Amino acid sequence: MTNRKLIIGGNWKMNTDTSSAIYLAGGLVDAIGTISGCDIAIYPPFPYLKAVDSIIDQSSIKLGAQNLWHQDNGAYTGEISAEMLCDLGVTTVLIGHSERRHILMESDSLIALKVAKALSSSLQVVLCVGETLSERESGQTHSVVLSQVTNGLSTVPEDEMQHIVIAYEPVWAIGTGKTSSPEDAQNVHAAIRSRVSELYTDAVASRIRIQYGGSVKPENAAELFTCKDIDGALVGGAALSADSFVAIVEAACDA
Ligand code: PEP
Repeated sequence: MTNRKLIIGGNWKMNTDTSSAIYLAGGLVDAIGTISGCDIAIYPPFPYLKAVDSIIDQSSIKLGAQNLWHQDNGAYTGEISAEMLCDLGVTTVLIGHSERRHILMESDSLIALKVAKALSSSLQVVLCVGETLSERESGQTHSVVLSQVTNGLSTVPEDEMQHIVIAYEPVWAIGTGKTSSPEDAQNVHAAIRSRVSELYTDAVASRIRIQYGGSVKPENAAELFTCKDIDGALVGGAALSADSFVAIVEAACDA
């Protein structure tokens, strides 16, 4: 349990179509659209941002994007800029999600550029970090995760840290049904907070919110939220059903 306001994100990844995106967003607005006990953001695919925004814009649910490109405009075929996202009503963005690090081969240096660009466009950044199974099994969890944190924040001055959220997502737990034990997750979250304190100050570290991600579902959310350095969840699969996402949000509000 933490005195920071919990934050729950729903990462829809490359799922839904126009009608199912609208239906899912509508279900969330009906159930949790006026909740203020925790922060809520959803991250639909780019093509549905505008349609989803029209459903959630009068609610307390924030509109998020799953990625951006760090240049303002120009010959970057297939990419989307921070300005375009802002134009669509987006206020928060995932950067460095493990699927982008490992499938799209995004490097720490590219991720740092994206973080800087998002902040300069007044977007909240959810910086995603996490170790692979082989890194965990070879005892490198802390070194990998803390290096991703340090590199991801390398462009961020202290006065911008209020706009950063960190999502710790062990890669082996994403979409696999395997969840880190609350003790293991708490251990890594505490190490991340301590690294933020070394990079900035104790005050910045005590304020930053660190979400856990990796097969979070209604059955395991409440226990994760009892950990003192776990400040919410970034949810993938369970965010595609209003019932399960709402149950996770309710667990956060009750924590
Ligand atoms: C994610 O996409 O960030 C994620 C944690 O997915 P899942 O909840 O499906 O593991």
